[in-house]
Amino acid sequence: MTEIVTRLTQVQQQIHNACIQANRAPSSVTLLAVSKTKSAQLIQQAIDAGQRNFGENYVQEAVSKIQQLAHNSDLNWHFIGPIQANKTRLIADNFSWVHSVDREKIAKRLNEQRDPNITPLNVCLQVNISDEQSKSGVSAQELFTLADFINNCKQLRLRGVMAIPEKTDNIEQQLQQFSALQNLYLQLQQRYPEVDTLSMGMSNDMAQAIGCGSTMVRIGTAIFGKRD
Ligand SMILES: *Cc1c(COP(=O)(O)O)cnc(C)c1O
Repeated sequence: MTEIVTRLTQVQQQIHNACIQANRAPSSVTLLAVSKTKSAQLIQQAIDAGQRNFGENYVQEAVSKIQQLAHNSDLNWHFIGPIQANKTRLIADNFSWVHSVDREKIAKRLNEQRDPNITPLNVCLQVNISDEQSKSGVSAQELFTLADFINNCKQLRLRGVMAIPEKTDNIEQQLQQFSALQNLYLQLQQRYPEVDTLSMGMSNDMAQAIGCGSTMVRIGTAIFGKRD
C-alpha cells in the first residue's frame, strides 16, 4: 500500500468512528479528498483505492489534472476555492460541484455558462460564519436572498452550505461555529427540502464537524500530506 492509501484508509476509519460516536450512519458523510497542489499521479493512487470525490482550489491547475485523469470513470470534481468572475466558464465546464458561491454575479455567470445538455451544477453557498472581514462568504443575513436567486437558476442545483471556520484550537469556539452553520443549513432545508449538503470539517476538526451534522468533510493534509 502506498502512503496515500494508508492515510486514506485511516481517514475513512476516523470518519466512521466519528459517525458512531455521534450516533449517525457512516454512509451519511461523504469524504471529499482535497487534492490542491498535489499531482495527478498522487491523485490516481487515491482513485485506485476507490476515492471518487475530489476538491480543488485553483482553476487552471485543476483543469489540467481533470484532463489528465479523465480516463477514470465516475469522478466528481468539486471547486472549493475563491471564484474570480473570469474563471466561471472553466468551472461550469469542468466541475460537477461548486462549494464557494458567495455572490449573485458569480451564480448568474455559472448558470449562463453551464451547458444545458448536461446535469446542472451542484451548488453550496459559502457562509462567512465567523464574520471575519478578510474571508469570503455571505453573511447569515444574505444567505437566503442568494439561495432564492440560485433556486431560480435552471442550470444550477442548490445543495447546501459550506464554511471555513476561523482557525482555533478552542473546542468550544469550534463547536459554536459548526452549530451556527448547522442551524443555517437546517433553516435552508426547511425552505428548500432538496438541500442535503452541509460541507464542513477539515483535517483538524472533522470529528467535531461530524458531531454537528456535517454531511461532507473536506480533507487534504490528512490524506495527501503537508502542502508546499
Ligand atoms: C485546503 C482546503 C481544505 C483542506 O484542508 P486540510 O486542512 O488540508 O484538510 C478544505 N477546504 C477548503 C476550502 C480548502 O481550501
